[in-house]
Amino acid sequence: NLVAVAVAAKDGKGIPRSSGLSDDLFAHDGQITKRPVRALALSALAPRPGERLWDIGAGSGSISVEWALCDGTAIAIETREDRAANIRANAAAFGLTHRITVVTGQAPEALAPLDAPDAVFVGGGLDRAMFDAIWLRLAPGARLVAHSVTLETEALLGELHQQHGGELMRVEIAYAAPLGRYRSWGAARPVLQWSVVR
Ligand code: SAH
Repeated sequence: NLVAVAVAAKDGKGIPRSSGLSDDLFAHDGQITKRPVRALALSALAPRPGERLWDIGAGSGSISVEWALCDGTAIAIETREDRAANIRANAAAFGLTHRITVVTGQAPEALAPLDAPDAVFVGGGLDRAMFDAIWLRLAPGARLVAHSVTLETEALLGELHQQHGGELMRVEIAYAAPLGRYRSWGAARPVLQWSVVR
């Protein structure tokens, strides 16, 4: 992906300024927030220069990279060492190692020593204990954005939305794909997005 980023950046074309960069620009193993959904995540996270993100379950680090491209700093927390290596590679390819800190560890335990965030993204696997740990650390005005594709986390987001308000959004995306001589819509898994301000 070093090459992909370099190609995107050459000939004065540069890297696109919008969030929702091509998945191909990131080293990943398939566990990556896909381009259109990532754009919606960044829109909800609303990065401003100098702000700090906790990217919990950072996977490839694509969210951290796009946040850091908006001149903030990101702490990418990822439990799997192989994915933490991808995050480091992606931070390096985008020239963002000074803005992205990789923490290899399990949330919520790994959150305790971290400086408090301006925004938090949870890309999956939120549970009540993790929510409670995050919520305690959020200053008034800090944002939390959580995505879910499982029924279990969906149920939790439904409860949290009732308790804390914010916006609960369901995203259903379908791609045109061949169907015999014709084309039809192949539906991606629905994603729930809950965004809330503390
Ligand atoms: N947003 C990421 C994809 C996230 S996939 C991207 O764009 O690449 C969810 C990730 O969360 C997986 O890599 C998984 O290993 C990690 N994960 C799950 N539970 C976790 C926990 N409790 N602490 C840290 N990482 C966790």
